Amino acid sequence: MVKLIFGVDDTSPPFMEELNLLQDFCNKFPKLKVTHFVPACYSLKSFSLFMRGLKKILPLNAKKIIFRALDPQSEENRIDLNKEFCTLFKKEISKKRFSAELHGLTHFSPENLSAEEFLYRDKEEIRKKIEESIEIFRRAKFPEPKVLAPPGWGVTTNLLAVLKEKNLAIAGSMTSHALSARRKSKGAGLKNVSPLFPERVNGVLNIPRNWDLKEGTIERAEKIITLGGLIGIHAHIAPIGVQNDVNKENLSNLAKLLEWLESNCSEVQFMHFREVIQ
Ligand SMILES: [Zn+2]
Repeated sequence: MVKLIFGVDDTSPPFMEELNLLQDFCNKFPKLKVTHFVPACYSLKSFSLFMRGLKKILPLNAKKIIFRALDPQSEENRIDLNKEFCTLFKKEISKKRFSAELHGLTHFSPENLSAEEFLYRDKEEIRKKIEESIEIFRRAKFPEPKVLAPPGWGVTTNLLAVLKEKNLAIAGSMTSHALSARRKSKGAGLKNVSPLFPERVNGVLNIPRNWDLKEGTIERAEKIITLGGLIGIHAHIAPIGVQNDVNKENLSNLAKLLEWLESNCSEVQFMHFREVIQ
């Protein structure tokens, strides 16, 4: 039995077009389950100064997405206040095709002009941000979140302590390195955890991601299967500072993997991250 999870980071109201593309993709692969890591109130506002400096060098597509997200009018980035987003998600959640998990309150640290919202924060500040995010999920009538993907991969012992307290798991590591049964994660986020299996760190269950939507290959998937691991696909909803975004080309890379699994593995279990915990 091969287990496969698919996590998409940064999903939020500015990215409805990308969500629609993903829905079309899911129609072709009806067993696929997509876990979205959703900032409760995605904010790029504090990034604006930094972005002004960057705008000359950014590709047009990235600029369009960023400026859409930067719209100073929009409280719409708060998930419970965006009807279109809530409706789409509730429908997809009821079909069990999408699930929504935590990815920070705003995904930004105004003090550091960085995406690592939880870095340099004490437990009290982290607790407040997580509680506020959970409250916004509640108001959006989303199921109680069970997992957090750390915004910008900023993981600290303070963050792990609060996650333990709240009984939340973490999708905290991504590795693109060579895999072996004993090797620990050297990729982004949590270091020194298994890149193949869920593993507890400071009392918090880490769910690894090990197959990049753009760079992942069939050979890598075969290696993961040979080692008995879980295939954890990693993607972002939009191309902001990343290349593994949900676009046609990257999705066709995933399609190749899914077709290969279909013909080469007798049983594939598609799971949400929250189902890995149970
Ligand atoms: Zn993110």
